[in-house]
Amino acid sequence: MSTDREKAKLERDMAVPEVDLRDGASGIATWAQTDGENLHPAALEILGEARRLSEKLEDKTVTSIVIGKDAEKHAQTLIEHGADRVYVISDDRLLEYRTLPYVRAIVDAIREIKPEIMIYTASAIGRDLAPRCAARLHVGLSADCTQLDIGMYVNRKKGQRFMHAFKMMRPSFGESKLATIIGPWNYPQSSTVRPGVFAKLQPDSSRTGEVVKFEPKWVEEDWIQEVVEVQKGGSRVELEKADIIISGGKDLGREGFEMLQELVDAIRANGQVAELGASRAAVNAGLISSDHQVGQTGKTVRPEIYFAIGISGAVQHLMGMQNSKKVVAINIDPNAKIFQVADYGIVDDYKNVVPELIKQVKNGFTFELDK
Ligand SMILES: Cc1cc2nc3c(=O)[nH]c(=O)nc-3n(C[C@H](O)[C@H](O)[C@H](O)COP(=O)(O)OP(=O)(O)OC[C@H]3O[C@@H](n4cnc5c(N)ncnc54)[C@H](O)[C@@H]3O)c2cc1C
Repeated sequence: MSTDREKAKLERDMAVPEVDLRDGASGIATWAQTDGENLHPAALEILGEARRLSEKLEDKTVTSIVIGKDAEKHAQTLIEHGADRVYVISDDRLLEYRTLPYVRAIVDAIREIKPEIMIYTASAIGRDLAPRCAARLHVGLSADCTQLDIGMYVNRKKGQRFMHAFKMMRPSFGESKLATIIGPWNYPQSSTVRPGVFAKLQPDSSRTGEVVKFEPKWVEEDWIQEVVEVQKGGSRVELEKADIIISGGKDLGREGFEMLQELVDAIRANGQVAELGASRAAVNAGLISSDHQVGQTGKTVRPEIYFAIGISGAVQHLMGMQNSKKVVAINIDPNAKIFQVADYGIVDDYKNVVPELIKQVKNGFTFELDK
């Protein structure tokens, strides 16, 4: 129940004149990233979040924009995961990402859709695409958000009350603060969201939606860049796709990380999808490369099972893994913070626990997964 003080504040807020600068903009749009062939997992994550957020708007329409070669093949998946409408921009030249035609395509689509909110994935490509689109549309962009909401925003100085401000939250000041960024003066209010932060919805094959074949007004200059060759590879660490993540902290040293790798290999040999993760301190100590890092400045993950082995549980680490379905912590310190988010905690030296785990897995033990 709200206190008298809260009630009084609400009354004062409601006395400020309401302002609505949306000028017909309504609903939410998301960009559904593809890698040419498949949808990026985050395409469905931001779609799920858009669906949830749309409940707070008058116009609950969620539109997904998908670009690529044969992009129409993704429309049904997007509808099943929450889209009411899919704008399909299909072109054989777009098997690979190309900045200029993508920017024109998204900007043209946004001008036609007129959403009040636009959400992109903060992937490497999203980080190239989103700011360019925002600049062309003369709107702001909050990058790398980890929480989103819609609600009232009152600016007493300007005497303005917005009832549907998009609240884009992201860690700031070296993680000491969670900043809420708003910009209800220009539309669409736009943000990029880190992959792995939001959960995708369970697919619903009974959902129906509209598929719009959209033709951007590309001009010759949009195609001046030519993709001569694409070398895929780089990071092969696919933490976001792993069902089981075995993460280690800095005190494990090289010997400990070799042991964790052996455990990962044994799990994989049994046909389960496992990956090696790490704390930033372990990365800084040179025990493992940075593409394994989980946390605020690393990757955000939500596996079925997350093993935190010799990890203290600093808030920056928790930010990257606290949405895991099950957390198993192994630490010699019974007061380690990691135990506060653990479903199962083992207070022991990892050297007493991990070899036994390896033995069991090599004997055919597989982890029970909910999915
Ligand atoms: C701006 C900023 C961003 C950051 N981003 C990240 C990030 O993305 N990810 C991240 O992880 N950190 C990040 N950090 C760093 C974070 O604050 C911590 O320093 C880091 O997570 C600690 O790593 P650790 O748990 O390996 O080391 P420590 O905190 O030193 O903990 C080591 C743990 O190992 C346990 N241990 C020691 N020996 C054993 C043993 N034999 N068996 C079992 N347990 C043992 C100890 O009890 C202890 O709990 C960031 C910091 C800042 C300021």
